[in-house]
Amino acid sequence: MNLTKLKKIRIGVSLFFFLLLSLLFIDPRNSIPIPAIEIISSIQLVPALLMISVSFGWAAAGLFFIIILTLLFGRVYCSTICPLGTFQDIVIYIRKKINKRFRFSYLKPSYAFHYFFLGLTFITVLIGSSIFLNLLEPYSNYGRILTTLIEPLTTLLNNGLAAILSRFQIYFFYDIPLRSIELSLMVGSIFFLILIFYLSYFHGRLFCNSFCPAGAILGLLSRFTIYKIVVNEKSCTECGACEKVCKANCIESKTKKIDFSACIGCFNCIKSCPTDGIIYTPPQLKFSKHQTSFIESRRLFLGSMSVPLIGSIVQNTTQSDTVKSGYWQTKRNPISPPGSMSIQHFSTYCTACSLCVTECPTQVLYPSFVEYGVAGLFQPKMNYDASYCNYECTICGDVCPTGAILPLSIDKKKLVQIGKTVFIKEDCVVVAKKKDCAACSEHCPTKAVYTVPYEGKLKLPELNNDICIGCGACEHACPTTPRKAIYVTSNSVHLQAQKPKVQKQEKVFDVKEDFPF
Ligand code: SF4
Ligand code: SF4
Ligand code: SF4
Repeated sequence: MNLTKLKKIRIGVSLFFFLLLSLLFIDPRNSIPIPAIEIISSIQLVPALLMISVSFGWAAAGLFFIIILTLLFGRVYCSTICPLGTFQDIVIYIRKKINKRFRFSYLKPSYAFHYFFLGLTFITVLIGSSIFLNLLEPYSNYGRILTTLIEPLTTLLNNGLAAILSRFQIYFFYDIPLRSIELSLMVGSIFFLILIFYLSYFHGRLFCNSFCPAGAILGLLSRFTIYKIVVNEKSCTECGACEKVCKANCIESKTKKIDFSACIGCFNCIKSCPTDGIIYTPPQLKFSKHQTSFIESRRLFLGSMSVPLIGSIVQNTTQSDTVKSGYWQTKRNPISPPGSMSIQHFSTYCTACSLCVTECPTQVLYPSFVEYGVAGLFQPKMNYDASYCNYECTICGDVCPTGAILPLSIDKKKLVQIGKTVFIKEDCVVVAKKKDCAACSEHCPTKAVYTVPYEGKLKLPELNNDICIGCGACEHACPTTPRKAIYVTSNSVHLQAQKPKVQKQEKVFDVKEDFPF
């Protein structure tokens, strides 16, 4: 095969993944089917690593694919599958268009720095925090940028088209509520966007070889790659053409050396060499002693990823479910989505990619700021001011690529209690204003809140928290302000609710309404 075609293939594949992954986060109509989302997001390295420590399935297949790909061809993942990698390439391309004389040059790799960040990320995950993953993991940062900064624009575009086309009786587009975005998250996303733009504009793939945890893991793995890009010393004339186009700054033309663990497999060097001086080495199939011990250590690494799960189970038994410090305090305690098992598990595994936020059909999932603590920066929480959790839905668990929210069957989900309800009688419209209401009981899918005779014809809500699942339908429907007369408090460890005697889903209300009746 003509090696110069590799660059074209790489560009084609990277654009395919880039557009597909971007669509996951910016399509306000959520038109990609859930099984397809599971497959697409399973080939992201760090999410797949997290996922296989709690559950196999597509993530295991995705991880296997990435490992085999890297062992065969090096870090081509960084130049094809990673959306943040392709985003950086687009910035680098813009730079080259603006300044045609711009050249890269060899940079001595800062391994100590890169592995320090990888170690820090790994240690924090082991002790139950994903703060460094949230800040550095490429897929999640890219997802957050799109959800926060681009999805509102595509939603507005969709709604504009819906308004225009409906005049011509074309209803292909329909109105979609605009998601409210936390200001801190927006600031965080803009900051990361500026940082990544700056780094790639002026320094190529510096982020990939200095900060990115996926880049560090693949860099280690690529030391054992079979087909490597090397300089063919016989045909190399030391012209330096390859070094000038190497965006990973890993070619030192004067010594004819390529640091292959920093090479991101863009194949620019192969294309640029006028003398066919860059080649892929023939297969070297013998595993050295060193390589065998690396595979052992990788096994240990994957095995140890299950530690947070065990840790979370142990730690969670010590956490109290009962929050006694008043309405505003309990409202600040985040409620994690069904399938996340506990706040500890969720905080450890969630990389805050925002995919569940984008896919949640009722828009109840909302990125938090520091409600889970600094360790859980930007992780989603249930926001019952905005909406409620649909009784019949399990989408967030189906799409989460890291195992932070585990998939549940509809029947199991209907019995997962993520929180419990509190009723403040004196705030209820029935008591305070002597008016009929019952919004909460009307919308409770399990009938955990029901009404009993109060005064005259009035009926007052009463609770059965044994069958409450904490879905927030009652809280969202309750019309009292600023304090809801009925609200959900978080279960730090999710519990199992008892099966309701009557399961009746009331009409699904429109999330755009102030309250649904
Ligand atoms: S299960 Fe609830 S929180 Fe999860 S996606 Fe469905 S409605 Fe949203
Ligand atoms: S819980 Fe949501 S934000 Fe966190 S990793 Fe899963 S899909 Fe991404
Ligand atoms: S009482 Fe409220 S939170 Fe509990 S199941 Fe009913 S609607 Fe959901």
